[in-house]
Amino acid sequence: MRFKLPSNISSYLGEKLLKSILNSGDLNRARQLFDKIPEPNLHSWTNLISWYTKQGLSNDAVLLYSLFKKQKNQFPDRILLLSAVKACAAYGDLTKAKEIHQDAIKFGFLSDVTVGNALINMYGKCKFCEGAQAVFNELPVKDVISWTSLLSSYVNCGFLGEAFRAFREMGSNGFSPNAVTVSSILPACSKFKCLDSGKQVHGYAVKNGVAENAFVASALVDLYASCSCLKDAQSVFDCMLVRDVVSWNVILAAYFLNGESENALRIFREMSTKRVPLSYDSWNTVISGCVQNGYNTTALEYLVEMQVKGLKPNHITITSALPACSNMESLRKGKEIHAYIFRNSIFTDLTTTTALVYMYAKCGELEISHKIFNLMPRRDVVAWNTMIIANAMHGRGEEALLLFKHMIDYGVKPNSVTFTGVLSGCSHSRLIDKGLQVFHSMRDHFIEPDADHYSSLVDILSRAGRLEEAYGYIQRMPMKPTAGAWGALLGGCRVYKNVELARIAGKHLFEIEPDNPGNYVLLCNVFVAAKLWSEALKYRKIMEEKGISKPPGCSWIQVKNKVFTFSVGDQSNEQSDKISEFLNVIGQKVRLAGYMPNTDFVLQDLDQEDKEAVLCNHSEKLAVAFGLLNLNGESTIHVFKNLRICGDCHNFIKFTAKIVDKQIIVRDSLRFHHFKDGLCSCKDFW
Ligand code: ZN
Ligand code: ZN
Repeated sequence: MRFKLPSNISSYLGEKLLKSILNSGDLNRARQLFDKIPEPNLHSWTNLISWYTKQGLSNDAVLLYSLFKKQKNQFPDRILLLSAVKACAAYGDLTKAKEIHQDAIKFGFLSDVTVGNALINMYGKCKFCEGAQAVFNELPVKDVISWTSLLSSYVNCGFLGEAFRAFREMGSNGFSPNAVTVSSILPACSKFKCLDSGKQVHGYAVKNGVAENAFVASALVDLYASCSCLKDAQSVFDCMLVRDVVSWNVILAAYFLNGESENALRIFREMSTKRVPLSYDSWNTVISGCVQNGYNTTALEYLVEMQVKGLKPNHITITSALPACSNMESLRKGKEIHAYIFRNSIFTDLTTTTALVYMYAKCGELEISHKIFNLMPRRDVVAWNTMIIANAMHGRGEEALLLFKHMIDYGVKPNSVTFTGVLSGCSHSRLIDKGLQVFHSMRDHFIEPDADHYSSLVDILSRAGRLEEAYGYIQRMPMKPTAGAWGALLGGCRVYKNVELARIAGKHLFEIEPDNPGNYVLLCNVFVAAKLWSEALKYRKIMEEKGISKPPGCSWIQVKNKVFTFSVGDQSNEQSDKISEFLNVIGQKVRLAGYMPNTDFVLQDLDQEDKEAVLCNHSEKLAVAFGLLNLNGESTIHVFKNLRICGDCHNFIKFTAKIVDKQIIVRDSLRFHHFKDGLCSCKDFW
């Protein structure tokens, strides 16, 4: 329906026209029309406020009500006031809520039970229980809804005990809790995992014949799922007389929540065969469930299938699917989703945009992350943390510190995660004094350092060779030192060849993580570098006896939408011959430029020449060579490795990047390395 909006219009005609535009769903045009009505009547105000709320634009709804109050000669009637209360409940702003409460008093609607109930509900949504309780107490006549609203307010505020008290009191006041009451209290039992209280409510529901209500049954399924009683959840579900899509979604989420992905996927297929009309919630649940349980590829397949079935992914779907791209480091898939958002002008909220920022950083495109972050109109602590962590993992410690400063300047309060990010940035960039300063400033922000923060500090000091000092901090940790802290110290011991402290760190590590091969390998390396062969051998024997082995190192690279994986000495690639030839030629050039193979990184007791040959076969070298052979005009290649990049490869790639004059980005298990012009962003420290 497109017609020219009239320039002037009577309030009655305006009301009619507004209604029909609203019914067509065009909220923007409705607003344009509304602004042209010289004196909109109460119906028009009410209609537009309600529509804003229904469309999730409660902010605009509340603003519109404020605009209404500026009108002369107009006062809200009961319906208009109710629409404002509902808008404010959705908006959740306490200051506005109190204003509207005052209006209700001023215009004499406080004895109206419907208005009173809505006000109780509004305060509950604003998490202001005292307000809800006060309105409730003032109500001259109360009904079941008043009690239920009060109870829900307690639930919203997390006061489970108070909610139960209201549940019992309403019974003794002659109001029996109905299906709505029961389905309001059950989510609290789920949230706080109060199985016993939940079972009591279940018993009450059965006795009073509300257990079969679809909302109650779904809430019960959710309760048992949250308390890890999947069998009970399933049996409530099986007993349901009518199962709608909502109840199916709840049982689907229940299996994902308990890590039973295969069963969840079975349920989802069953939904299709039983022709359950799949809702947005169904798709969003299956996609986010898959991602949370590591089924990243499946999640992205469902994203496609959803569209094939005619449903357009919404911003929740997108936010659920983006981490799949980050987890798989699939820049191509991530870019596809980004393009989809752009093409379909999908409403992107803070969470979606933050997920995009993280996806690009995780896939190696830090510059794009920065661009998106800078365009965000509003940034919360999670957004700032994401950008700080992104810079930290790319080895941009100074940038992370700068962001940290800006964040505080903007008045955003840092949390514990912020400090983890900043400290890890300092450790990757060798900013020792800054790191110490940040660590000691935590208490100024009222944050107690936790084990992770201590580990980061130990890492910073260990990387700088200040091993004794690092060991001192471990000894002074108020909690039991974690594997992270000892591991960081051991890492430092390897670089600075401190056998004494390495032995201590190793002893503690083997107690905490007896089966982690990485620790044994690291300790072996310390002994090998110190030429303490017998001790190295001893630990390799222990590894053999325990049957633990280092996971094989592998590197991968994406070329033309296909992922190519390489392991040590891999000959399986079609271009293997070309790769070794390339490495030979480059090998000669880098030696001329000053590269020396560092055979410390070879464990086997081989002679020098053989050791160098083994180094040449490392998976990261093969992947880099393959990438450079298949550049397709790109100036940057992205290589990923499952373990830490080896020191020799690191050196080799630095020289290679200079000789071929390309940027080589390698993401290993710890961080990103950006190689350019013979240097690495990690400044040879990782
Ligand atoms: Zn290597
Ligand atoms: Zn590096």
